[in-house]
Amino acid sequence: MSGTETLLNGFRKFREMYYEKAPGLYQNLLRHGQNPRFAVVACSDSRVDPAIVLQTEPGDIFSIRNVAALVPPYEEDGRYHGTSAALEFAVKALKVEHIIIIGHAHCGGVEAMIRKHEGGKAGGTFIAAWTDLLREAHERALAADPGLDGDALQSASERQAVLLSLDNLATFPFVLDAVTAGDLSLHGWYLNIFDGALEVWNPDTETFERQS
Ligand SMILES: [Zn+2]
Repeated sequence: MSGTETLLNGFRKFREMYYEKAPGLYQNLLRHGQNPRFAVVACSDSRVDPAIVLQTEPGDIFSIRNVAALVPPYEEDGRYHGTSAALEFAVKALKVEHIIIIGHAHCGGVEAMIRKHEGGKAGGTFIAAWTDLLREAHERALAADPGLDGDALQSASERQAVLLSLDNLATFPFVLDAVTAGDLSLHGWYLNIFDGALEVWNPDTETFERQS
């Protein structure tokens, strides 16, 4: 058990808060099932946990996390699509009302993609293939401003990655159906966790707007 005491202590605090002080919460979530209004696609990065950042309660958000908060293209190839399976469940079974893509600053996935693109070493067996999905975000960032490099290129690519994921999300037939029916809204957010800032994509102005 050595090394995991912090987590076990955390569970004790959780149990005190959610079972001893609010004994009905999980009984209700069992009796009525989960009914989250929100699905969130966030990065696996340990610093950007959506339940912590958005201060939600158990049952509030259906959380989908992967490297770089990506929605891959819709592919019916019989392979193992974890993110797509979670999206399918969120939309078709849970009937969430909102899907929110949350990209973030200093994302290691985006950094790995840029490094590889600039001739650096590709990371791992799976990371390089997964972050190849980001190449278009990098291209879009450079097309918008060919002079970008360094941190500016990275943060522009991170924001473009959110938009790319939104574009991919809209190609899933069950997502498109729910959006067309007016039952589902799609959102792109960008979290600058180091400045404590959250930006929300406004499709009308085509800008990320910093929230107060
Ligand atoms: Zn990340």
